[in-house]
Amino acid sequence: MQVVGGSNPLAPTIFLSETFMNHDSIFKETIRDRLNRDKMVDQLIRDGFLKNPAVIQAFRRVPRHGFVDAAFQSRAYSDTHLPIGCDQTISKPSTVARMTELLMVCPDHRVLEIGTGCGYQTAILAGMCRKVYSVEWHSQLVNAARKMMTQLEYPTVRIDQGDGSQGWPSAAPFDRIIFTAGAPTIPEPVCYQLVDGGILIVPVGPRRQQELVRIIRSDAENDVIFDVSYHGSCEFVDLVGKNGWMSTT
Ligand code: SAH
Repeated sequence: MQVVGGSNPLAPTIFLSETFMNHDSIFKETIRDRLNRDKMVDQLIRDGFLKNPAVIQAFRRVPRHGFVDAAFQSRAYSDTHLPIGCDQTISKPSTVARMTELLMVCPDHRVLEIGTGCGYQTAILAGMCRKVYSVEWHSQLVNAARKMMTQLEYPTVRIDQGDGSQGWPSAAPFDRIIFTAGAPTIPEPVCYQLVDGGILIVPVGPRRQQELVRIIRSDAENDVIFDVSYHGSCEFVDLVGKNGWMSTT
């Protein structure tokens, strides 16, 4: 780690962590950002949202403040969703924690994310698996998220613009699939893009008041079985597209 500081002992010290440096850009964070993030993670552990050490490590590393607008910096490490443009929001950290825990990601996994948004959940996943495919409806968000992935040096992430409600057939099958937007019903065709034993997480239900649904695929001799379980309420923006709600944009 490189520490950059002025001669004034009262000036805030800026830590430039190696994790966030590459040749083209340097992602800056203050020690206050780091402390606030650790505080948020400790609270998520105390509240029972974070348990798996790999998920905890990912949460400690990914700088949520880098994904939110300057106007919302002071709330970057609060357990709240925040606007990210295009009428969309970055999810509450506790919701990202719940979903990531349920997904049970392993280092050798290929993961599909539907709803890149600002890319925060994408970055959490990128630190835990082999490759993340992420698809986003709004091209403005695609561009911003791609920029963040470059700055944070996640070369194993591919972000495309499109209708993720249909999955990503050309890159299927996936070990894990996560929807970060609320679907009216389980997007069934996408469940078939899982490997045998694969897990899919999707918020399902009426607008802004869904239930977190986990689906595990298991292939029998001449049959495909989907085990469906329910994991509490949540509040997501709309999944639009063919297997989602009607889009107005
Ligand atoms: N995980 C994101 C959450 C973003 S909100 C984050 O951390 O920021 C959900 C996102 O899903 C929005 O950006 C929205 O544009 C996107 N979305 C909705 N329907 C979609 C679809 N059919 N295909 C791809 N993205 C979609």
